[in-house]
Amino acid sequence: MRVAMFTALMWAAVQAFNTPGIHPDAEASAQAQPERTKGPATDGKLNIIAFGAHPDDCDIRAGGTAAKYAALGHRVRFVAVTNGDAGHQTEGGGALAARRRAEAREAGRRIGIDYVVLDNHDGELLPTLHVREQIIRQIREWNADLVLAPRPNDYHPDHRYTGVLVQDAAYMVVVPNIAPDTPALRRNPVFMYFQDGFQRPNPFRPDVAVSIDDVIDKKIDMLDAHASQFYEWLPWVANNLESVPAGAAERKAWLRKSRGGEPNAAVRESLTKWYGAEKGNAVRHAEAFEICEYGTRPDEAMIRKLFPFLP
Ligand SMILES: [Zn+2]
Repeated sequence: MRVAMFTALMWAAVQAFNTPGIHPDAEASAQAQPERTKGPATDGKLNIIAFGAHPDDCDIRAGGTAAKYAALGHRVRFVAVTNGDAGHQTEGGGALAARRRAEAREAGRRIGIDYVVLDNHDGELLPTLHVREQIIRQIREWNADLVLAPRPNDYHPDHRYTGVLVQDAAYMVVVPNIAPDTPALRRNPVFMYFQDGFQRPNPFRPDVAVSIDDVIDKKIDMLDAHASQFYEWLPWVANNLESVPAGAAERKAWLRKSRGGEPNAAVRESLTKWYGAEKGNAVRHAEAFEICEYGTRPDEAMIRKLFPFLP
């Protein structure tokens, strides 16, 4: 009798556990799945995905633009292609990767975007078929309209190969027999590069420049979430760790001062093209992007659709 009752209770417990929507983890993971492998968005919202080598790279180059998309209800995902487990003076390995992942999640939360950290080792990234397929799957799952990435010219090999890997994915996302477990896109997204300062073999060309004056506080708040980077590793490797203030408010003000540079002449010219002379010359903080020749090449009307906050 008691055995039968125990069995019945166990059966009920197992049923409750297996019922969709009952188990909290199952519900959370279902919500975390992007819905966009089936076709273009029908809700008028854009899907933007950006790739950086490390957890903080996308934030530096496109955090303000991402905050503007998020404020309008568009979907943005940042992807760190490595887990950041090497770039620190006193920490490393799995513990550092876990810290960086938590910082990235918090950074995304602060501006209302999704943040994925792929589990590839920091400082060891190579443009392999395995990582190329990871990137193809990310772009397909997000059903991206616009893909952002670094140019393949950079001092850091991880940055360089992230640029190569995204270029390598720029056509393959529409080829069904490549990574066939994730349905291919039926239209190639537009691909664009982040701004950088490298001059060879050719300097960055700011085809689009976005004023981020209205979201600069949000961007700094996002960067502030990466404490292990902006307050520890980056100042240490630049030999100015002693310049980082101790207090939370003071170091955030320091971060804003050190990261708030004026647009250069080429970006200024692009700003005046898109915003007009008066507004373009008044912009103090901007992010700029160069159209990649691979993927869909956008005309001006398409650029305005992809950057709906341009006037
Ligand atoms: Zn980096």
